[in-house]
Amino acid sequence: MKVCFVSSECVPYAKTGGLADVSGALPKALTEVGIDVKTFLPLYSTINIDDFNLKPDPENQAIRVNLGRSTHFFNTWKGTLPGSPAEVYFIDCPDFYHRSKLYTNDPDEAERFIFFQQAVLRILQNIRWTPDVIHCNDWQTALMPAFLKMNFRWDRLFEKTATLLSIHNIGYQGRFSKDSIYGAGLPYLHYYPGGPFEFYDSFCFLKTGIMFSEIISTVSQTYAREIQTFEFGAGLDGVLHGRKDDLYGILNGIDDGVWNPDSDSHLVQNYNLDSFLKKKKNKQALLEEFYLPYDAKVPVIGMVTRLAIQKGLDIFRPIMEEFIQQPVQFVILGSGEPEYEQFLQHIAEKYPDKVAVTIGFNEALAHQITAGADMFLMPSHYEPCGLNQMYSLNYGTVPIVRKTGGLADTVKDYHEVPDEGNGLTFFDYSDTELLETLNRALKLFRNKPAWKKMVTRGMQADFSWHASAEKYVELYDVAQKNLDKLD
Ligand code: ADP
Repeated sequence: MKVCFVSSECVPYAKTGGLADVSGALPKALTEVGIDVKTFLPLYSTINIDDFNLKPDPENQAIRVNLGRSTHFFNTWKGTLPGSPAEVYFIDCPDFYHRSKLYTNDPDEAERFIFFQQAVLRILQNIRWTPDVIHCNDWQTALMPAFLKMNFRWDRLFEKTATLLSIHNIGYQGRFSKDSIYGAGLPYLHYYPGGPFEFYDSFCFLKTGIMFSEIISTVSQTYAREIQTFEFGAGLDGVLHGRKDDLYGILNGIDDGVWNPDSDSHLVQNYNLDSFLKKKKNKQALLEEFYLPYDAKVPVIGMVTRLAIQKGLDIFRPIMEEFIQQPVQFVILGSGEPEYEQFLQHIAEKYPDKVAVTIGFNEALAHQITAGADMFLMPSHYEPCGLNQMYSLNYGTVPIVRKTGGLADTVKDYHEVPDEGNGLTFFDYSDTELLETLNRALKLFRNKPAWKKMVTRGMQADFSWHASAEKYVELYDVAQKNLDKLD
């Protein structure tokens, strides 16, 4: 089976969030189960060609793409996913991808990703490669199903190509002016109130993808249910409910070549379940780095997060100061909305012995916090899958999470199900529930046998990509079967 995997970010090349982790790992895991996968990514200016030993692809140079009345050209570079033969194609068009960030508010944001998607199809045409499935990810690649059914329908190369759209976060929808339909070369006839392209007076890439892909998946079973509800559907709940028979949830895995306490090169001390006592060295090093005093009896709570409202900062802020009066320390890494950055910096200045805050994106520190903390906090309002709770579980760092999306599917509360509990959870999205749960965690931390049980279950849990990759292969088959259904 041949799969064309298209994504706007991919570890280790370009990352703003969990999508990059998935794109860096799933094609590898698919390759390992015998799928022929090619991954496609824009060549952002932040990707250093020499660092990654990328090579120009002689077959695919100076290819033309028309967007409305303008014409653009791109070159192609090739590389692989580290540790895997899985190929990655990079679309090189400096006009579009040499920007200070992966995603922008520039006026041509829609064109940047229309171009990317069309460039991918142009490469497939050039190399005469017919994928059985094009696996699209989020709004940046969600027009591909419509492209195959409309602009590229004439090309028999894609006659048997099905599409699967994975939604990693329904909150990001790619909504643009309807003029972009012209740039995309798609027919206006699908743009009318309530029509497949239209969403609140905009041309919505994600809705278009939901309407035209053979299969839709999202990154946990709970999130697949949640996004069909008013509270979590971000306006697309009705559209998704309309396609509920084709909507599946598959939990992300984690890449244990990157996230494994036994081999993690970012740590001062590697450890595993048998050598768990060595984890302490990472706690000491972490605290030392931030000039926080070390006390084995005082738990450190870690957070690594985008500082966005989705992540629960609005219920954390009101109770943080009350909670911090107790014997507990926080090490927090994040960046995002200025109001939360300022709040956290303020708390760190006020409690220099208890709270360390780093604003920014720092891969090494993310690993060090995951290993050095005793607990990991994720009070998210919604969390499609969430990776950090799985990393934490495998690192013997007990997660404290709100029961939503993938958090609900991976973390079981010790007090609710003592025989399975691997963390602490709460359901109501409220500051009082969060405070109560944090207090429960402090108490439980003093109960060493209970803590050890949670740690052991977490470290033994298997979140490898292998099982998820096999589920995707099943979905690719279903996508193929659905191919004619939507015609
Ligand atoms: P989301 O995609 O919503 O941000 P996920 O939990 O799916 O959330 O994935 C987030 C990924 O990004 C994790 O690998 C996490 O460690 C990483 N991450 C988030 N913020 C930072 C940061 N400030 N520095 C380093 N890594 C971060």
